[in-house]
Amino acid sequence: MSLLRQHLIDPEICIRCNTCEETCPVDAITHDDNNYVVDAAKCDYCMDCISPCPTGSIDNWRMVTAGYSIEAQFSWGELPAEIDHGDAASVDSQQQEANEEDASEILKVAHSGESGKVLPPASAERPYINIYNRDKPMTARVAGNFRLTDDNSESDIRHVILDFGDKTFPVLEGQSIGIIPPGEDEKGRPHLVRLYSVASPRDGERPGANNLALTVKRVVFQEDGETVRGIGSNYVCDLKKGDQVLVTGPFGATFLMPNTTSANLIMICTGTGSAPFRAMTEYRRRHMPDAGGKLLLYFGARTPGELPYFGPLNKLSDRFIDKQLVFSRLPDNPKEYVQNRMINQADKLAALLNSQDTYIYICGLKEMEKGVEEAFEKICADNNLSWTETKITMKSSGRYHVETY
Ligand SMILES: Cc1cc2nc3c(=O)[nH]c(=O)nc-3n(C[C@H](O)[C@H](O)[C@H](O)COP(=O)(O)OP(=O)(O)OC[C@H]3O[C@@H](n4cnc5c(N)ncnc54)[C@H](O)[C@@H]3O)c2cc1C
Ligand code: SF4
Ligand code: SF4
Repeated sequence: MSLLRQHLIDPEICIRCNTCEETCPVDAITHDDNNYVVDAAKCDYCMDCISPCPTGSIDNWRMVTAGYSIEAQFSWGELPAEIDHGDAASVDSQQQEANEEDASEILKVAHSGESGKVLPPASAERPYINIYNRDKPMTARVAGNFRLTDDNSESDIRHVILDFGDKTFPVLEGQSIGIIPPGEDEKGRPHLVRLYSVASPRDGERPGANNLALTVKRVVFQEDGETVRGIGSNYVCDLKKGDQVLVTGPFGATFLMPNTTSANLIMICTGTGSAPFRAMTEYRRRHMPDAGGKLLLYFGARTPGELPYFGPLNKLSDRFIDKQLVFSRLPDNPKEYVQNRMINQADKLAALLNSQDTYIYICGLKEMEKGVEEAFEKICADNNLSWTETKITMKSSGRYHVETY
């Protein structure tokens, strides 16, 4: 019996961000209104799509005798179970010849615990996912849109509240929603859905209200002497109270908060990466104010004027949350980034890393991930810990989560 190692996307975890489709050099990844899928006939195992995927849902592999068709994958709500092929199976010889090195690398990674199914915290509430899609979106009404950053700062980050009226749109802290920008791209195709993290707790921006908040940064930059405005972010940032918006989701089944009062949450972010942490912190403040587990926030921005929620954050007591606000462009001060502050607080972090009750969440721009990883490596090395082992243990028990974009 000849076996093929098929590359698959976990539809339960995938947040439909389109990153993999943009990345794949051979157009092996495609999507419909339901799922993102990999075409087995095109995928050459180059692995380019693995690290950019913000959820790890792209990193799934099954040994199969005949590849699952893309039509079958479009219909899935979850990955099919592993099939036991017994000892008689051998990997398809053509594929093996062409990809022997990549394939053994895939296996090595899978067995090291670096790969495989990304897990939510064991005690997390079970989320609803993919209830609404482009074909069947939810219509929300804008209930508010406020600037969070200083008027004179370059960075326009906004707090946008969407109301669902009497319709059901259940979300958990850490999930994202999709916004469908109106109009079409230059090729006449409808714009892709843009994802935004929910910044309010599950019971609404206002407790008991059927609404949620987003933290959205207006993307504007110069390219070849021209000003380029991001389609989705400018659409959301320009919304007025009362406007109607088409929403998809909710998305994300792993970047969720534990439901135990003993859980320590280490939250590391820059800019709009603070959105899920506002949601998690607010949930703890409303519903678990006396939780014994620690909340520790490392939050980086250029200046206090560019740090979303600077005022409200400062009002939270130090007993409730340990806030480490770090600035890289303060006049007359050396540049400081979250990883620098983490290294300066190595003892505190090493003690938390030693606890089975500690959960790590990293959210924000992709560039921050490397510095944060290096900081953890150094902290562990200086404290007789192995970061590689600690991370594998944390990942395999749903305690290490990264969502960068
Ligand atoms: C899981 C997830 C959660 C997210 N959560 C949030 C959130 O909570 N808040 C939030 O604001 N965003 C969030 N994003 C990002 C968001 O989905 C959009 O990618 C972002 O708003 C930009 O979309 P746009 O349509 O405005 O830009 P686009 O029209 O897509 O175009 C922007 C283009 O320019 C590039 N670009 C973007 N910024 C720059 C820059 N400064 N300089 C040069 N090129 C640039 C992009 O790579 C892209 O090619 C999230 C993304 C993911 C995947
Ligand atoms: S979450 Fe990963 S698999 Fe899903 S669309 Fe984004 S990059 Fe692709
Ligand atoms: S492994 Fe390479 S070829 Fe296969 S889907 Fe990912 S990027 Fe495309």
